[in-house]
Amino acid sequence: MTERRASRQVNIGGVTMGGGAPIRIQSMCTTHTRDVEATVDQIQQLTEAGCELVRVACPTEEDARSLGKIRSRIKIPLIADIHFNQRFALIALDEGVDKLRLNPGNIGKKERVVEIVKKAKERNVPIRIGVNGGSLEKDLMEKYGPTPQALVESAKRHVQILEELDFQDIVISLKASDVPNMIASYRLAAETFPYPLHLGVTEAGSLLRGSIYNAIGIATLLQEGIGDTMRVSLTAESVEEIKVAKMILEALNLRKGVRVISCPSCGRAEVDVFKLAGEVESRAMKLKDPLVISVLGCVVNGPGEAHESDFGITGGKDKGMIYINGKQHRVVDEHALVDELFKEIENRKKTPEGETGQAL
Ligand code: SF4
Repeated sequence: MTERRASRQVNIGGVTMGGGAPIRIQSMCTTHTRDVEATVDQIQQLTEAGCELVRVACPTEEDARSLGKIRSRIKIPLIADIHFNQRFALIALDEGVDKLRLNPGNIGKKERVVEIVKKAKERNVPIRIGVNGGSLEKDLMEKYGPTPQALVESAKRHVQILEELDFQDIVISLKASDVPNMIASYRLAAETFPYPLHLGVTEAGSLLRGSIYNAIGIATLLQEGIGDTMRVSLTAESVEEIKVAKMILEALNLRKGVRVISCPSCGRAEVDVFKLAGEVESRAMKLKDPLVISVLGCVVNGPGEAHESDFGITGGKDKGMIYINGKQHRVVDEHALVDELFKEIENRKKTPEGETGQAL
C-alpha cells in the first residue's frame, strides 16, 4: 500500500480526522431528527456496531432544535446536515453539534456565511463541504459535464469562501454514483486540497450492489493512500453501512477486526457450509477483539486454513472438527458445531494470557 496522503488534521468533538489519524467510519441516520427517541436509538445501534461519527438531516427548525437533546444522549460526535438554511446552521451550532455538513456557496449572502463561520470557529466545529455529482452548478455542468474537474471546481468555490474567512477546519467530499468518476474525482482532490477527504460512492444502491460499488471505489483510493473517513452509502439499514465499512478496512489490513474465512463449498462437503458460515459470520459480528475464524467444508483445505486461524471448523460426515490455534481440539455433531465453537471462543476470552497460550 502507498503511504497515506498527508492531510491537515481536524478534531470533531474529540475524534481526530486526517493527519495520520485512523480512517474514521461514519453513517447517517434514516430517522426524522425531530423524533429524538428513534434517532438516539438508531445512533446507539450504530455506535454498538462501530460507527465513530454520525450525521443527521436538518430539513426543519424542529429538527435543528432537537440536536442538543440528541447530543446529550449519545457517545459519538454528532454532525448536522444543513442545506441552504443559515438559521438552521446557527441553531445547530447553538445546540452543540460537533461538525456541520454545509456548502457555504449555497447559503446565499456573504454576511450569512460570515455569521456561521464565526460561530463555528468560536466552537471549534469543522465544516464538511459535500459536493455531489447530482447537484453541480449549472455553469460547471455546461463547461465540464459531470466530470472530476467539475466536482473539484465546485469544491474549490466553497473552500475559497471558507479560506477567505480564515477558516481551515475543512473536510471535503466529492461524491458521484459512477465509480470510475468518483475515484478520479478524489484523486484530483487529493492533489488539489490539503484537507481530509471523506470518501463515498453516492446513491450506490441496495445492500449487495451498494456494498460492491462502495468497496471498489473506497478501497481503490485507500490502497493509494487517499481518504481519511468513509461513509458507505446503502439503500439499507444504516448498521449495514458500518459492517461494510469495517470489512473494507479489515480487508486492506487498515484495521484489525473479526475475520471469517469460509470456503464456497463443493461436492466434497458433507456439512451445510453455507448455513455454518452464515451463523458464524453473524455471531462473530458481535465479538469485539480481533480474531480469525475459518469455516471449511472438508479436510482438503480445512486443516490448512485452521492452521492460520485462531479458531476453525472443518466439516466431516455430519460432524466437524473444532480447531484452536491451528490444532485439532474436538469433534462435534454438525447441529451443535457453531454453539460449541462460540463456547470455546468465550472460554478463551476468560482464560488469562499464558495459561493456554492465548487470550483474546
Ligand atoms: S474446503 Fe472442501 S468443501 Fe470447501 S470448497 Fe474446498 S474442497 Fe470443497
